[in-house]
Amino acid sequence: MKALILGGGMSGLATAINLLDLGLEVELVEADEIFGGRASSWKDEDGDMIDNALHVFFPYYANLLNFFRKMGIEDNIIWKQTEFYYMQEGGREAVLRFANLPAPFHAAAAFYTLLRSYTGVPRWKLLFTAAGMGGAVMYSERKLEKLDEMTFGQWAVRRAPVDAFLPMEPGINGLTFTPSWMVSAKVMLNWFRKVAADPDSARVGFANGGLGDIWVGTCLDYIHSKGGKTELRKAVTSINLEGNRVRSVTVNGEEERTADLYVSCLPPFSLRRVLPREAFRYQYFRDLWHFQYAPSLSLQVWFDRKLTDVDVTFFSNNCIFNTYADLSNVLPHIFTGGSMFEMVLSPADHIEGLPDEIIFDIALEQIRSLFPSAREAQVRKYKVVRERQGVYRPLPGMEKHRPYQRSPLDNLYLAGDYTRTHVSSGGMEAAIWTANHCAELIALDKLGKSHILNVEWKPKKGLVPLIKPATRVGAALAGLALARRMVKGAKR
Ligand SMILES: Cc1cc2nc3c(=O)[nH]c(=O)nc-3n(C[C@H](O)[C@H](O)[C@H](O)COP(=O)(O)OP(=O)(O)OC[C@H]3O[C@@H](n4cnc5c(N)ncnc54)[C@H](O)[C@@H]3O)c2cc1C
Repeated sequence: MKALILGGGMSGLATAINLLDLGLEVELVEADEIFGGRASSWKDEDGDMIDNALHVFFPYYANLLNFFRKMGIEDNIIWKQTEFYYMQEGGREAVLRFANLPAPFHAAAAFYTLLRSYTGVPRWKLLFTAAGMGGAVMYSERKLEKLDEMTFGQWAVRRAPVDAFLPMEPGINGLTFTPSWMVSAKVMLNWFRKVAADPDSARVGFANGGLGDIWVGTCLDYIHSKGGKTELRKAVTSINLEGNRVRSVTVNGEEERTADLYVSCLPPFSLRRVLPREAFRYQYFRDLWHFQYAPSLSLQVWFDRKLTDVDVTFFSNNCIFNTYADLSNVLPHIFTGGSMFEMVLSPADHIEGLPDEIIFDIALEQIRSLFPSAREAQVRKYKVVRERQGVYRPLPGMEKHRPYQRSPLDNLYLAGDYTRTHVSSGGMEAAIWTANHCAELIALDKLGKSHILNVEWKPKKGLVPLIKPATRVGAALAGLALARRMVKGAKR
């Protein structure tokens, strides 16, 4: 049985591997000149590494980590401390440091460290932030589902005074490329619940090298060693139907490719353009038009000296960048001779139309105001990356429009970080989870066998299960004490 895979990003390469392992013949076509999609990297004219964008890994990426383990490349992720730095004007650092204590005390300790040094919001407001986020950790799955009906901003305004959740904004922007007043509350709280779930899950991992270097080559070698075929510069230009099946796929407007089954690992924005009109008789495919593009840009800046020795992720408010890292500290064996800042610029709606040099000038001015040592430093070079950017915007209500991996067409399956999964609204774990689930469905539908690939990540619960009963017992005891006092008072 032959499968044609459309798109060679993370979900496409993982699907190819999964289907080869099932014994299928595999062919993969990719429009770009490199494989890896948004999780890729390349070298510039000076031989310097350019990442498509700063990517971080988390320990709760259970399926991605299993996939990397299977490929023998899990050591290509370097794990750092469980801390995040906030850089504030004038070089004032604040840190959110998760302690090695049982949950939820590890998170409480982290908020305490933030409280001491974060100056963007008055401390009394940060207490509301802590209470709000602490409550969210205990939400049931059902309650979380309901939160897809409102924005994070709406959720926040019911719990705290204005701006109390400002420290969350860079994380929200960096993860979803969307402001908090637009993003689904469910999406953000789901992420927060995972990061704050146990003392280890806030640990951030970085690619030990170019983002694509750490995984793409190994995957291609695996695919080719099993007889799979991969081609670059082959853009799918139409998917051709015959009744309830895909008959063929046209590539580069002229070549017709056929297979027994087809897996789209294209982004929704590409897929909906190559589907034929009749596909939109199905609500399933009409749903693809609900996806709105959230743009991003990536910026790398090489300085002639060190600006900081922090080797984890930075967050900053009110800048065109929000999440960034100094890769000369993260990967000192690769980036030598001065700081190299790699920054995600998002939401980029208001800057993507600007020329590179203006974007760089704005970013540099902001870096200088956050890192006083940058005022003396010379910039050796910079690079704005515009290719392979963006994610879909996880607005309230989007979860129901994410397509399931089994389509209504008999021989078409979908994978990709935007397709339906409970793990997250997108990201590399979603890309792998959906590629795995797609293969699980194909095994069931076409080979008549059960083939389980995905695993469920389970946080260490710590003392969290005791919190609710303890609060109830506390409230009952307080009620009893009050009643006793009232009875005593009445007797007197
Ligand atoms: C700035 C930025 C920062 C990010 N940071 C993180 C992070 O820190 N952690 C994290 O987990 N995730 C992060 N992500 C998301 C992560 O990159 C994606 O979730 C993941 O790479 C998605 O893989 P995919 O295969 O689903 O899609 P893609 O990587 O988009 O793959 C789709 C492929 O289809 C190809 N294609 C498109 N149209 C056609 C066509 N017509 N014919 C043939 N091929 C076509 C594309 O060229 C591409 O190779 C980030 C993304 C960006 C943009």
